[in-house]
Amino acid sequence: MNTGRLFVISGPSGAGKGTICSRILEQDNVRLSISMTTRTPRDGEVHGKSYYFVSKEEFQKTIEEKGFLEYAEVYGNFYGTPKMEVMGLLKSGTDVVLEIDIQGALQIKKSYPEAVLIYILPPSMAELRKRITERGTETEESLNRRMGETLNELSYIHEYDYCVINDELQKAIQRVKAIMTAEHSRISEDIHKIVEQYKEEL
Ligand code: ADP
Ligand code: 5GP
Repeated sequence: MNTGRLFVISGPSGAGKGTICSRILEQDNVRLSISMTTRTPRDGEVHGKSYYFVSKEEFQKTIEEKGFLEYAEVYGNFYGTPKMEVMGLLKSGTDVVLEIDIQGALQIKKSYPEAVLIYILPPSMAELRKRITERGTETEESLNRRMGETLNELSYIHEYDYCVINDELQKAIQRVKAIMTAEHSRISEDIHKIVEQYKEEL
């Protein structure tokens, strides 16, 4: 059986990663990895669905047990990708999407070079501020912090394989889906098994 592909989606807070991911996940055979975080839940966020909300002590314990594929401190809170579930899904042939920050994406690229890194950009910085403001989840201080961090994050964009500008939502979703489809036709280890089988049949 083919192994699943690992897709990493990053980009500035408010660019539309969550919105795009939720639509990608409507497809069969794709799952989003639920991260662990020390951040306080926002209104409507559910433990085990949005994130696993844990204490700093529990997060630290998972680091010591080598339970993360990657982890990082983002905007003053810790976030990490639990290792076991992701590896199990990939092995069973399911694609996995990680919606994680740049520090995490770079760790994944090192430890799992086959991962496909996709960067989501807003059409402008003014639109980014507008989207975060209208989402209504951040205080003025948190919004400014997130906007400020964007400048630093943009300097790592060349580490990514693809960049999608989320101007019109439907178009952006289609572009991400197209990347995922194309990646399934990329020459990989699996093709050798197929070629060997064909040779035997000849
Ligand atoms: P992120 O996960 O990157 O922080 P969200 O998915 O939460 O961003 O999107 C931020 C806000 O922008 C949300 O209120 C969302 O509904 C809105 N949004 C997302 N994509 C678009 C788009 N293409 N056009 C207009 N608004 C958008
Ligand atoms: P938010 O607090 O808005 O949910 O997420 C803040 C940032 O943390 C986003 O850039 C998001 O992609 C990132 N993030 C979420 N989960 C993880 C994770 O498991 N690892 C890393 N490195 N970043 C994450």
